[in-house]
Amino acid sequence: MNFIDPVADLSDPVVAQGAVAEGQGAPALAPESWFDIGGVPLDKLVLRAQQTPFFAYDRRALDSRIAQLRAALPEEVDLFYSMKANPFDPLVHHLAARVDGFDVSSGAELAQALNAGVAAEDIAFAGPGKNDRELTLAVATGAILSVESAGELGRIERIAGELGIAPRLILRVNPELDLKGVGMRMGGEPRQFGVDMEFCLDLVRRLMATHGDNFLGYHVFWGSQCLKADMIIAAQAGTIDALVALSDQAGFVPRLINLGGGFGIAYSDGSPPLDLTAVGTALAPRLAALRQRFGSVRVVIELGRYLVGEAGYYVCRVLDRKMSRGEIFLVTDGGMHHHLAASGNLGQILRRNYPMLVGNRADAPPFEKAHVAGCLCTPIDMLGHNVALPQTEAGDLIVIRQSGAYGPSSSPSGFLSHPAATELLV
Ligand SMILES: *Cc1c(COP(=O)(O)O)cnc(C)c1O
Repeated sequence: MNFIDPVADLSDPVVAQGAVAEGQGAPALAPESWFDIGGVPLDKLVLRAQQTPFFAYDRRALDSRIAQLRAALPEEVDLFYSMKANPFDPLVHHLAARVDGFDVSSGAELAQALNAGVAAEDIAFAGPGKNDRELTLAVATGAILSVESAGELGRIERIAGELGIAPRLILRVNPELDLKGVGMRMGGEPRQFGVDMEFCLDLVRRLMATHGDNFLGYHVFWGSQCLKADMIIAAQAGTIDALVALSDQAGFVPRLINLGGGFGIAYSDGSPPLDLTAVGTALAPRLAALRQRFGSVRVVIELGRYLVGEAGYYVCRVLDRKMSRGEIFLVTDGGMHHHLAASGNLGQILRRNYPMLVGNRADAPPFEKAHVAGCLCTPIDMLGHNVALPQTEAGDLIVIRQSGAYGPSSSPSGFLSHPAATELLV
């Protein structure tokens, strides 16, 4: 692989040799060798993008990720795509034809999913602050609404009454789970999402009484970016147990259970990937038990990052190579206005470099350590610190991997008024 370890040790003889050579004047550049994305060499992709920076998403990587999930998870699991991870419309269309439904987080995403051909009954709309216009759209189109509070349920009922349309509802439950080790916790502690488990029984009874068959079941989304299979297994088991107990107390038979997702991807070279097979193997008997109890309950797993993250690349060009106080800075035409997550400013607990390489010297070994900077006038616009790279000059292309999720749409694109990155589906 072309992976360059972003945290390579400076005592590495290759890197050390580069550091010495740097002091003695520039060594010969490694010969050109082009990285390719989806089978297309990078020089051709730059021409297709008509500019740097750009994002490229590999459709074959999307397909193989879906195939892995289908193979590892029990057959009856419905796979939903969480659109906020990447709402690039060609990618959304590509996935719409290949997954079982969509998880959307805004009225605009709901409209986009419908336009991409996703059936309303296969769209689940969650979010703590859905406004009346968004609720109206969801009720009118028949999408499944995650009820996030008793107050929101009141607004949904008023809007549905005015429209004369029965809404499809699931209750978003904030379970009591021990989630140490989950990258980003979305439940199990005080959160604006969903309804705390201890208040759910009343709401379930109210939903059963008022909405009958249109109260479909539950939604639990406990966290994100989890790489540990045993954590996911425990969270899924805890979720299922809690929902069964709640249903038993209320005398309710759910027909839809959205178990959330949380599957993570490895951002640094060393960390082992999620053991998907272990997750699927543990889930199978639990789903069998659920079916025995509740009949043909639809079980959904909703994934964003895990479906699209590894399929995406961010490509930017080195504008300047300079030294500051003995350290090498490669200043690029990219930055946090396109790729906030790579700059470490999208809520990561630890700032770690995304894996990156020099796309026009893809076969060259690491030679020196450099800081990769964005073009914005702020010290937080850094795409990589102490990255082990081949000798790199102005004009070279930096390729940042694992960039298919939470890229342009999660970045402050207006900051400094630079142009947007182009996006390609390859
Ligand atoms: C954001 C979100 C997801 C997707 O999270 P990933 O970590 O990208 O898989 C899933 N479900 C809900 C409700 C979300 O808000």
